[in-house]
Amino acid sequence: MTTSTDGTALVRWRHEARVLAALREHGALRRAELAAAAGLSRTTLSEIVADLVGRGAVRVVSTDAARRRGSGRPAEVLALDPSSGQYLGIDLAHAAVHVAVVDASHDVIASQQRDVAPGTAWNERIRTALDVVDAIASSGTRLDALQGVGVGLPGPYSPAWSVDRSGARDSSAAARNAVEDAVGRRFGVAPLLDTNTRLAALAEAVRTPGTGEDLVYLRIAAGIGGGIVVGGRLVHGGRGLSGELGHATVRPDGPRCRCGKRGCLETVASVPAVLAACVERGVELRGLADLEQAVDRADPVVEAVLREAGVATGQVLAGTVLALNPTDVVVGGALASVAPPFVQQVASTITFEVHPIDGARPRVRPSDLGDSGGAVGAIVALQHRTSLLVDYPGGHDASIVTSPPRRSTS
Ligand SMILES: [Zn+2]
Repeated sequence: MTTSTDGTALVRWRHEARVLAALREHGALRRAELAAAAGLSRTTLSEIVADLVGRGAVRVVSTDAARRRGSGRPAEVLALDPSSGQYLGIDLAHAAVHVAVVDASHDVIASQQRDVAPGTAWNERIRTALDVVDAIASSGTRLDALQGVGVGLPGPYSPAWSVDRSGARDSSAAARNAVEDAVGRRFGVAPLLDTNTRLAALAEAVRTPGTGEDLVYLRIAAGIGGGIVVGGRLVHGGRGLSGELGHATVRPDGPRCRCGKRGCLETVASVPAVLAACVERGVELRGLADLEQAVDRADPVVEAVLREAGVATGQVLAGTVLALNPTDVVVGGALASVAPPFVQQVASTITFEVHPIDGARPRVRPSDLGDSGGAVGAIVALQHRTSLLVDYPGGHDASIVTSPPRRSTS
């Protein structure tokens, strides 16, 4: 089992980011100069550089211009080669598709989204995503060295279903098959597949400076889903279903949820639920833009609805916080971006729920990555299949693992 990177996955990513940033800032550098600029030991640097050279992100160049005075030998310098590869990430969310392209040096070089009507068939969604890819390509973004395609699907989706379909719901199986077929036909590769919210959690953990290695992410949009990072690792759970916090019960006698239960968090705090509650109390809101305006004018009814949704969300997250003791809780999705008071209420409720326990209180913040988080996270997972996520389920891979390896306890 791959224990060598256990608990150090995020550290490795951050070292890699420092090396890339130093090369971006200073241009080509000798190894010693690069180690100093990145603040890494020579040993750590050579490990990170070997991996980056293997992926084509960094080139080793012998150059006369850098020839050491008197030695007669050309000096070896390392240089960035961002154009050596592109990675495509697609998030097929309930109400929109998001597409991002990242180059070999981790830079997001294109990001676009297009709305789709909730309930749109999977074939149609993936076709829309490929139209967006075409639009990106025709606007000048290079895709001629595509290294892989990652796709986030709305949960519940388990990567384990790629080998064991017995637990798959029909809609999830249909989504997976539609995506695998379309991506295979278009790019000739099998996509990496996972839950879009889980991928967004990964992106928040690795791409936001100052974020810890233990993080809980919740996306509140047309639906509600989450993702959990523990010790720098994305948690899939025993059956690949971790993070489905939208279906925690918050009102036992509440309205029926699409999952079949009553009073799930999704029936209280999703965007459609919040809009419906406002309308029921006499405030006509036709969509997110109306909600945003109502928040701006501090409409008391809307504020009350958001408070209730925030309390319910905070209580569900507080349970997770007590179980996992994360350093960060990130709230993403449309509701968090148009209604800051909602996120503030979530933070207050978590603080209230965990305050008697010293050190249990996490930092709570809105997402930094916004709507592109799922697509970018799919790319992070792709880039690090072999290092950061050494055991990442490959989607199409026969050697797929259905649960992450246990962390070494020695
Ligand atoms: Zn439910």
